[in-house]
Amino acid sequence: MTDFTRTRALFDLPENILYLDGNSLGPLPRAVRARVADEITHQWGGKLIRAWNESGWMELPGKVGDRIGRLIGAPKGSVVAGDSTSINVHKALTAALSLTERKIILSDSGNFPTDLYIAQGLAAALDRGHELKIVAPEEVAAAIDGDVAVLMLTEVDYRTGRLHDMAALTARAHAAGALTLWDLAHSAGALPVDLTGAKADFAVGCGYKYLNGGPGAPAFLYVRPDLQERIAPALSGWLGHAQPFAFDTAYRPAAGIERMRVGTPPILSLAALDAALSAFDGIDMADIRARSIELSELFIAEIERRCPDLELASPRDPARRGSQVSFRFAHGYAAMQAAIAAGVIGDFRAPDIMRFGFTPLYLSPDDVREAASRIETMMTGRHWQRPEFQIRARVT
Ligand SMILES: *Cc1c(COP(=O)(O)O)cnc(C)c1O
Repeated sequence: MTDFTRTRALFDLPENILYLDGNSLGPLPRAVRARVADEITHQWGGKLIRAWNESGWMELPGKVGDRIGRLIGAPKGSVVAGDSTSINVHKALTAALSLTERKIILSDSGNFPTDLYIAQGLAAALDRGHELKIVAPEEVAAAIDGDVAVLMLTEVDYRTGRLHDMAALTARAHAAGALTLWDLAHSAGALPVDLTGAKADFAVGCGYKYLNGGPGAPAFLYVRPDLQERIAPALSGWLGHAQPFAFDTAYRPAAGIERMRVGTPPILSLAALDAALSAFDGIDMADIRARSIELSELFIAEIERRCPDLELASPRDPARRGSQVSFRFAHGYAAMQAAIAAGVIGDFRAPDIMRFGFTPLYLSPDDVREAASRIETMMTGRHWQRPEFQIRARVT
C-alpha cells in the first residue's frame, strides 16, 4: 500500500491552501526545482551544445514517454513526449485517417473543445469529405457503425468527470472496422489506464494536469505498436526522420514511435516533466484509484450534507467517474472565486460547473474535510454575492 504521507512531502504547496485543481495544473514537485536548475547550470550552461549527446537530451522525449507509458498500460517504445495535446490530436488523427477510406470522425459533446476544433480544422484542410459527427456521450456506442473512420473520445469528461468504458467502446469500434483515438488528459496519473488491454489504437494526453509537469508541459502521444510502421506522419519533421543528421532532402520516417517526433524538443520543460514523474515511482495506479475514490466520496458526502444549494453534476457511482467531482450552481463562477479567496482552489467551467480535482499524491481526507468546511462557510454566508467575485478573469 502506498504511503501517501511520503508522497505529500514530494510537493511544494503554499501554506493554508487546499488545492483541488491538480486536474487542471498540477502543483510543483520539489524534485523539479533542482532538476531544472541542474539542466540550466550544468547541462546547458556547462556543456553547451555537447549536452545533446552527453546529457541524454536527444533521447529525452522517448525516455519521458516510456515513464508515462508505465502509467497508461503502454509498452516501452510506444509513447513519445512532446508538443501539446492539441497538436498531438492533429498528429494522431491524420495518422488514423491515413489508414482508412472512411470519412466519419465520431466524437461526443463531452469532448474537450480543442479536440473537436482540431478535427474540424483537419477535415477542412484535407478537403476530402471528412466529417466530424458529435453525439451525446450516452449515444456513442449506438452511433458506431460501418461508416466511422475514427472514434475520437476523451475518457474522462472534463466538465462532469463521467468515465467512458474504453475497453468496451474500443472493442465495439474495432468490430465495426473503426480506429480509436483516446484523449487521456484527465486519466493519465489519475486512474489506471490499460491501453494495451483495451487494444486502443492511438492516445494522447497532457503533461501538466495529473502528471504535474508544469504550465505548458509537453504532452504525450501513443501509437499501438503494430500500427507504427504503417503510418506516414503528416507533420513530417526532421526529428521524426530516420536519419536527421544525414540532412537528406527527402523525408523518410524513423522506425517506430520516433516518427511521431517533429522538431527540436523543449528540453527544460521535458526535464521538469521527467523529474515530476518521479513522484509516481514505485506507485501502483490501483492504490491511487482507491484513494481517489475515498477522497471523492468523502467530498460528495460532506458537500451534500453542508451545502444543499450545490447539485452534484458528476455520476454518483464512483466506478463511472474519473478523479474529479463537479457541482452545479447558478452562481458557480462567483462562488468559485469566493472559495478561492477562502483558500480552496478549484475551477469553473461554463455555464454553471464548479469543478474539484482529487489527487491522492498530495491530498488527504483531512484536507477534503477542511475544504468542505470552508466551502460551507462561504455558501451559508453567501460570500459569492460580493462584487469582487463577479468579475470574470480570462482563465476561469
Ligand atoms: C486540458 C485538455 C486539453 C488541452 O490541450 P492543450 O493543447 O494542452 O491546450 C486537450 N484535451 C483535453 C481532453 C483536455 O482536458
